[in-house]
Amino acid sequence: MPPDPPDALDASGAFGAFGPLDVLGAIDAVNWSEIPRPTSHACDEPERVGQALRQLALSTTANRTGDAAALLAGGGFVHGHSGMVFPAAYEAAPILLDLVEHGPRPQGKSAALGLLSEALGCLPATGHNRVDTPYGTDVPLCCAIARHIRGRREALVAHGRGGVRLLTEADRHWRLTIDEAEPQADGTLIALAVLEGSLQGTPVAAEVHPSPSTRPASTSLIESLTADATGAACVRLGAAPPAGVPAGSVLHPAECGLRGH
Ligand SMILES: [Zn+2]
Repeated sequence: MPPDPPDALDASGAFGAFGPLDVLGAIDAVNWSEIPRPTSHACDEPERVGQALRQLALSTTANRTGDAAALLAGGGFVHGHSGMVFPAAYEAAPILLDLVEHGPRPQGKSAALGLLSEALGCLPATGHNRVDTPYGTDVPLCCAIARHIRGRREALVAHGRGGVRLLTEADRHWRLTIDEAEPQADGTLIALAVLEGSLQGTPVAAEVHPSPSTRPASTSLIESLTADATGAACVRLGAAPPAGVPAGSVLHPAECGLRGH
């Protein structure tokens, strides 16, 4: 078999089809070496995630795509053998979604989709199961990755069955933003809220983030919830947590915050 041709960044190569999207710029904009990582042997240096993403974006052959995907699945992004996902996956997710949305080659799109699904399915290392995001501090890693995925709903639906399956997985990592909460005589709270994702099967425990800059302060029980297709929701919360549930509070599944190896 002849050797693979060298990857090249030119208008006639695979990358030319990205048009104005600067996926390499997005990779370079991340300070990979600053991303915290567990000291476990399963986790490579996060810089290697940036290098593997570059390789995936530039690959023009099935072999190179497979090699890049194997690097990402072998440590740093996830470690497939031990079923572990690392904080660098939060930074890598939008880049993989760019590849799904704008990538010129089906193999590259499928590889990116598979890696995103793996990231959601793996468990984080204990002590590395949360990330800081522009919209919240100490957000469960799985929920932060899922929010990136939900943000590309249209592109993923257009991708077909694999994209829809990934969205269904992401929707399980629901997020509720409280608009206003009214204490009831029986000690419960009735709140108007906005639901992202899909919350089935109440009662369910939620961790409460009182503001974007605060860590989860407590947990509360969502006793019941009704929501319309736009996500406008009415929620009954069990006994109000001591810090209350001020307007703007965000709730995530409590079980997501407990995930870890
Ligand atoms: Zn989650």
